[in-house]
Amino acid sequence: MNEDIFEKYRDAGALAAKILRSSAQRIRVGASYLDLVESIEEQVKEEGAALAFPLNLSLNEDAAHDTASPGDARVFTKGDVAKLDLGIQIDGYIADTATTIDLGNNSLLLEASEQALESAIKEVRPGTTAGDLGAAIQNAIESRGYRPISNLTGHGLDRYILHRPPTIPNVGITGGVVLKEGMVFAIEPFATTGSGHVGEKTRKEIYSQVSQKPVRISAARTVLNKVKDRHGLPFARRWLDEKKLDITLPALVRSQVLHVYPVLSDIPGSLVSQHEHTVIVTSEGCIVTTR
Ligand code: MN
Ligand code: MN
Repeated sequence: MNEDIFEKYRDAGALAAKILRSSAQRIRVGASYLDLVESIEEQVKEEGAALAFPLNLSLNEDAAHDTASPGDARVFTKGDVAKLDLGIQIDGYIADTATTIDLGNNSLLLEASEQALESAIKEVRPGTTAGDLGAAIQNAIESRGYRPISNLTGHGLDRYILHRPPTIPNVGITGGVVLKEGMVFAIEPFATTGSGHVGEKTRKEIYSQVSQKPVRISAARTVLNKVKDRHGLPFARRWLDEKKLDITLPALVRSQVLHVYPVLSDIPGSLVSQHEHTVIVTSEGCIVTTR
């Protein structure tokens, strides 16, 4: 990796870390999801960076892919376990980082995903496998009495690409990709009181464009024109002010121009925590860009 690209990853990571830290402190009982999400996204732009994806704010059994909807009236309540997942990019080079805020008595659950992440980071060096990281994650979470979510994974990153190999499992699998110097990836353990598997909810707030094929409906063309500058990275329904998005967006998903990211949840009533960092593999270990 050349110095210029390395610097962009480092700058994106440092900014993401700073914004995530200050944002987490603003989550309290009664605070509005929409105000929080909009002001954090605004802060990213004010700092001269861009979002790699809409700020994910997922509560309790929801593990990922929720964010505020247009006019969202939800507020934080006592007992909530809130995941904030922030992605920032500078010239396409991405920092992906997440933390969990506890408005109840769930410190051990939070510790489980946090220590799982730290255990995995300690294993990162050329020659270890993605499966080794998964084993470290699984052990840290299960030894605290929780389950890792096995069908959510960490992922490689590249310029304007949010998900690419290597896949970093949250459970110990045999083998997996052998880590090499220069690889960039996110590690994101999820600990749960539930089943350890997520399924899709009907709630859909986040989309990305996956095909350039021409569309006939003019409302659909307007939407695509608006999200052109995303370079294929995800966007939120909330970012669009067109009418009839409830028709246009699903139509674009059906015609395979857009990909949709439904909210991913463990069983009702369960609680999920998540911690995530982006790392660059070095000759002897790794640099965590998002500390
Ligand atoms: Mn993330
Ligand atoms: Mn991620």
